[in-house]
Amino acid sequence: MSVKRLVIVGGVAGGASAAARARRLCEQCHIVVFERGPHVSFANCGLPYFVGGEIAEPDALLVQTPESLRARFNLDVRVHTEVVEVNRERRTVRARDLKTGRDYEEPYDRLILSTGAAPVRPPIPGLDREGHFTVRNIPDVERIMAWIRDCKACRAVVVGGGYIGLEMTEQLARRGLRLTVVEALPQVMAPLDPEMAAWLHAELRAHGVTLVLGDPVSAFEPPRPGETARASVVVLRSGRRIEADVVVLAMGVKPETSLARAAGLELGALGGIRVNEHLQTSDPNIYAVGDAIEVRDFVTGQWALIPLAGPANRQGRIAADHIFGRPARYEGTLGTAILRLFRLTAACTGANEKCLRRAGIRYEALHLHPNSHAGYFPGAEPIAMKILFAPDTGRLLGAQAVGHEGVDKRMDVLATALKARMTVHELADLELAYAPPFGSAKDPVNLAGMAAQNVLVGDVKLAQWHEIQARPAAPEAARTSAPGDQFLLLDVRRPDERAKGFIPGSLHIPLDELRARMNELPRDREIIAYCQSGQRSYFACRILAQHGFRVRNLTGSYRTWKTAVADAA
Ligand code: FAD
Repeated sequence: MSVKRLVIVGGVAGGASAAARARRLCEQCHIVVFERGPHVSFANCGLPYFVGGEIAEPDALLVQTPESLRARFNLDVRVHTEVVEVNRERRTVRARDLKTGRDYEEPYDRLILSTGAAPVRPPIPGLDREGHFTVRNIPDVERIMAWIRDCKACRAVVVGGGYIGLEMTEQLARRGLRLTVVEALPQVMAPLDPEMAAWLHAELRAHGVTLVLGDPVSAFEPPRPGETARASVVVLRSGRRIEADVVVLAMGVKPETSLARAAGLELGALGGIRVNEHLQTSDPNIYAVGDAIEVRDFVTGQWALIPLAGPANRQGRIAADHIFGRPARYEGTLGTAILRLFRLTAACTGANEKCLRRAGIRYEALHLHPNSHAGYFPGAEPIAMKILFAPDTGRLLGAQAVGHEGVDKRMDVLATALKARMTVHELADLELAYAPPFGSAKDPVNLAGMAAQNVLVGDVKLAQWHEIQARPAAPEAARTSAPGDQFLLLDVRRPDERAKGFIPGSLHIPLDELRARMNELPRDREIIAYCQSGQRSYFACRILAQHGFRVRNLTGSYRTWKTAVADAA
């Protein structure tokens, strides 16, 4: 049957993308886009930067308008119009004009739901008090800015340390507010593993942000006598009270599925709309895309909620393709994401350790700290990188990186490699653009592949930062550590590096003295070697292994250990 009437619910990332693609495939089809808000195709990802003033004009957030969509794509865009019901038998939707209150029916041959996800609002007492805001659309941020201006807010509390919370933190700090971030979990940015999130914790604190971890909000209260909060006093489970002139609620999002649920479409266990690989719901005439659906995690194959703009846009295109007869399939979501936090960039793709453990997938975790570009060229900065790979095949399973420069392009290469199901051997062999201002002849991605190859072929075994953290700290005087210790920690850095800090209980033999001083090392116990980043300690491991010692390399070495352990302290 030819598709004469396509109806799309939700006119932003997935919906607008689907509508424009549909028009490019079919000039004759009548395409109606319903959007209950005042804007379509706006840049929700840009909202925090409008609050901070980096994006100065609200019009810059409007990628398209109903008029421009009509002119270029001949789309029938109806803003301020909410779809309140789907009648699958008659193939109609009931739309409500929110300005007049008038309801009417609109028929469809195919329907696409791109209803997005709404901010989570847990039943915390006082959540709905004045001066509390969620961030989803342009009216939301205009309200925040008006409140800050009108009540001369100085102190902001951001509840939730996901990327929306952190972007809002950065931008409110840019406006001169004093910030507190309250996160119920022991770390911000859940897609990162804890030792990688630790870099973000340090950056927040370095910029004067008060960071509260592992202490959830139990109530929002009016100020008591002597308290001057203009919005609320944020009360934490520990009893701590934090005064806030403005509160940003960024505790995650949940799929908007009320229409789908009422229409009897299948939902998944995580609460998103269930779709097949063509993005059809349990009713093949109804497609669903974007934040409202559950997707297959590309690495683990498990159902997941991964609310990101890139997947929503691509899904919109795929749904339109399939509706108009193209053999389009969605292969799953990698969860590639990136965040700027003050001077730092943090990015990730694929699975983290938590996901892999949950899915029962075996992995090796490797940390390294390569320079963003050639060390001899001015401005090089280390990148904290982590890759996860399969211990048998070497297939890349996930990657995370945090640094000041060059994080974005490494993560995009790694995301591409992950999508192509590459192994670490192939990472080692990638030919990437190089000149000293941009990279190194062995790019950080190549280095990650090479270091992982060393593990796969058995040249080196890895020790992880948390194994050292769990070990009781022996005094330095106990040079070969306490009796009964399973391993000896060996610091192979230069004396000047050691003078700036070391792991308690470690024996110090600089790498260049190692061959001459091997008699100081035990043969009855494992040795874990470390340096600053893990490279020189790898050299040490090779020397010692060839002399018959049992040795492992502390992956990421002192930099990873210090950041993670200092953070936990
Ligand atoms: P949305 O873009 O949210 O659109 C859904 C629309 O449907 C809404 O406008 C809603 O009003 C409308 N709607 C819902 N129900 C109905 C109904 N019954 N009738 C009519 N209309 C309805 N992702 C990134 O990848 N990178 C980022 O940097 C990033 N930053 C973000 C920053 C913020 C502040 C926010 C809020 C999100 C950010 N995202 C980011 C996430 C990204 O915006 C979403 O993943 C993406 O917009 C999802 O697209 P969608 O079409 O599913 O939903």
